[in-house]
Amino acid sequence: MAEALLRELRRVLPALEAREGEPLRNYTSFGIGGPAELLLLPSSGEELASLCALLRSLGVKPLLLGNGSNVLAPDEGVKGAVIVTRRAQETARQGEKLVAACGAGLTKLASFAAEEGLTGLEFAYGIPGTLGGALIMNAGAYGGEMKDVTAAVTYLDGELRQRTAAGEALDFRYRHSRFGPEDVILRAELQLRAGDREAIRARCRELTEKRKASQPLEWPSAGSAFKRPRDGYAAALIDQAGLKGYAVGGAQVSEKHAGFVVNRGGATASDVKKLLEDVQKTVLDRSGVLLEPEIKIL
Ligand SMILES: Cc1cc2nc3c(=O)[nH]c(=O)nc-3n(C[C@H](O)[C@H](O)[C@H](O)COP(=O)(O)OP(=O)(O)OC[C@H]3O[C@@H](n4cnc5c(N)ncnc54)[C@H](O)[C@@H]3O)c2cc1C
Repeated sequence: MAEALLRELRRVLPALEAREGEPLRNYTSFGIGGPAELLLLPSSGEELASLCALLRSLGVKPLLLGNGSNVLAPDEGVKGAVIVTRRAQETARQGEKLVAACGAGLTKLASFAAEEGLTGLEFAYGIPGTLGGALIMNAGAYGGEMKDVTAAVTYLDGELRQRTAAGEALDFRYRHSRFGPEDVILRAELQLRAGDREAIRARCRELTEKRKASQPLEWPSAGSAFKRPRDGYAAALIDQAGLKGYAVGGAQVSEKHAGFVVNRGGATASDVKKLLEDVQKTVLDRSGVLLEPEIKIL
């Protein structure tokens, strides 16, 4: 399938970068994942939209990846097409709004906003995802979330119709949006406000220090492994269950922050899955709380 598909892609979209058998571990922050049969790297929002239309006409349903910083990719890899959006990152200022393609990195966007003297996106500085991945799960940190700044999102629905929805219509909640697996986010408008450039930069620096002090950034991970339960914090429950440092193969509950699972070298997706299950079981036994994974298991 990959060869015929590749021939057709090269014919219709000659500039598109396509790689066969590319290991997904190179495209995930966990550093885990077997080969993608075909990995596609569109270089703009427009090329992404054309690619989706072409794949659709060929009956191929692609898997979307931004920076792969919230996913666990399977050891056996992925059959078919994987689209990595991180090169589609056109960004422009329109008044007090930023309009950016889905592959724009959140830290870069927050830096751009700071340089433009626009406030509101400081919370996103240091989140290692793309705009698309952040909108899918309403990423947030330190009191801010995508919900607060999203004016509108343009996306392709399951029928590949291009739609634009206002932020309020997207059912943003804690680590949740209305988007389903069939939707492809193309770009978004973020509503910011004029602010003091120095104060914005200082807030970004402050949040970086907080991250460095509390998170195991020296090891590959996918951020918080579990969502915050209704009562309390996942990290506190895991810590109280005595699981800090608990390991399965190369996967370990971080000794620095019990909410993170880190890859201490050579971890497989099976190691991480087993670790997540063990943590869920032990925390449920100890505290009666069933933790829900925040990491998307592909
Ligand atoms: C060290 C570290 C710290 C982190 N800190 C935070 C934090 O403070 N707050 C927080 O919320 N998260 C945090 N994360 C998690 C992660 O960075 C965010 O969830 C981020 O928004 C994911 O973006 P991504 O581009 O990497 O998405 P990916 O992991 O690539 O994808 C996530 C999901 O979105 C889908 N997707 C991606 N792009 C598109 C698109 N264009 N259209 C449709 N679907 C798409 C994918 O199919 C997948 O289901 C952290 C992760 C790490 C490793």
